[in-house]
Amino acid sequence: MARSALERLVVDVPDFPEPGIVFKDISPVLADHDAFTVVIGALAQSGRDDQGRVVVDKVVGMEARGFILAAPVALALGCGFVPVRKAGKLPRETHAVSYELEYGRATLELHRDAIAPGDRVLLVDDVLATGGTVAATNQLVEQCGGTPHAVSVLMELGFLDGRSKADGVPVDSLLTI
Ligand code: 5GP
Repeated sequence: MARSALERLVVDVPDFPEPGIVFKDISPVLADHDAFTVVIGALAQSGRDDQGRVVVDKVVGMEARGFILAAPVALALGCGFVPVRKAGKLPRETHAVSYELEYGRATLELHRDAIAPGDRVLLVDDVLATGGTVAATNQLVEQCGGTPHAVSVLMELGFLDGRSKADGVPVDSLLTI
């Protein structure tokens, strides 16, 4: 499937969730079996080296749409899947990182034992916007003793320069606008 065909499936929703924001709705990509298959295969490439060998131990997905993409990527790579969740959702001991949003603050959490020291970790999400989510998740992985290997997203909002917040971790995006 061509990138242009994939891009056409992403729907712009003006003034959601707030006036002035154009939300990229990726749900039509998930609803199209061919597109979903292509996306999972492409996102998983970030967890392989040039010879196609898997070089990560865990795939982390960020709540909530990151879960939908990261879980099949983990299966494709033969790795475990680890959820990063919003505050108060995970039942056992967590690491927590708070970060600034445009309005207010958000906190993300990760189970302390979900990533072992030395694990190489692939971060997967649907959209990279300001980079706050990725920066916080990188910190959570490091607090567990893991190493963020790469960030793999379906879509990057290039004008927000979120990749500059990734602390040198390579960012791969299928679509950039
Ligand atoms: P950031 O932290 O980079 O500013 O925002 C990225 C997070 O917010 C991702 O977890 C993503 O799911 C969500 N997000 C922000 N903007 C959009 C958007 O336009 N479309 C979608 N689908 N998710 C978005």
